[in-house]
Amino acid sequence: MSYKHVALIGLGLIASSISLALKRNKSNIRVTGTSKSLQTRSVASKLNLCEVFEKIEDTVRGADLIILCVPVGAMAPVVSKMADFIKPGAIVTDVGSVKIEVINQVASLIPREVSFVPAHPLAGTEHSGPEAGFASLFDNRWCIITPTENTSKESLEVVVAFWESIGAKVEIMEPKHHDLVLAVTSHVPHLIAYTMVGVADDLANVTKSEVINYSAAGFRDFTRIAASDPIMWRDVFLCNKDASLEVLGLFAEELLKLQKAVERGDGEFLFNYFSRTRSIRRSIIDAGQDTKEPNFGRRLT
Ligand code: NAP
Repeated sequence: MSYKHVALIGLGLIASSISLALKRNKSNIRVTGTSKSLQTRSVASKLNLCEVFEKIEDTVRGADLIILCVPVGAMAPVVSKMADFIKPGAIVTDVGSVKIEVINQVASLIPREVSFVPAHPLAGTEHSGPEAGFASLFDNRWCIITPTENTSKESLEVVVAFWESIGAKVEIMEPKHHDLVLAVTSHVPHLIAYTMVGVADDLANVTKSEVINYSAAGFRDFTRIAASDPIMWRDVFLCNKDASLEVLGLFAEELLKLQKAVERGDGEFLFNYFSRTRSIRRSIIDAGQDTKEPNFGRRLT
């Protein structure tokens, strides 16, 4: 099956990047989209991202591939609204950062003659909204697809081809495994960044504005992550509770080990620990998933 009409539900960072990546391909694919607020729909129209509709039924009518690009907590309500208007034979996929809970909430709402192919592109920034998107967001980044027991081989192939066409590399994974891997690589690191920035803010009275003025690279990198969209991240932790708690438990144990090493002045322990973690950064660069430029290649003005 090929797709001639893609419908985007939600018009934020991920949806706008998909739309721009499709434009970059100069394909003849029709792209329609909708978003909750008039403000976002107006900006998306102004940017000429796609044909923008107010109503979800107008957005999905006749679409071959419908991509849910809303926060994970909003997936089930939007699918309920559009279910009656989806063309038989169409494919519904999503980009949600959590998979088990999205599958639990959404799969049963998808009409029988429509296939559901859950997916998650591992690409993003701390920015959100339709103006945040860019065409190369998915280039050389992984997109993890977590088929359900009802996902057909044909629809899986379509979604794989779709992500490859906009630059991503695809991996197929069990949804439960996805949620654990992402708890380690994304969800808990975000929670730690939120915590560290919260601690600094709590200390703001003690340090006056020094935290902001003398913000060194470590803290600045935390603030970048902690600037991520609060709705998206609230939903991630509400929906990936078990895996997040499992990883947070391990994190707390490790933090205690490091705390004790600092207490007893155990330089050897700290040196060995930091040497091990440094090699992980090197392997991420070797895998082409980040730049080796200082400061993540950021140009400081
Ligand atoms: P975003 O920039 O905040 O965009 C979210 C969009 O969803 C907005 O256009 C918002 O509409 C819309 N929306 C929310 N509730 C809606 C509803 N009930 N009906 C219709 N539209 C609704 O977020 P994003 O970064 O693109 O994230 C979208 C999804 O991608 C999330 O599930 C997230 O987990 C996943 N994801 C994010 C990243 C990342 O780093 N950001 C990476 C990979 C996957 P309004 O603006 O009109 O309110």
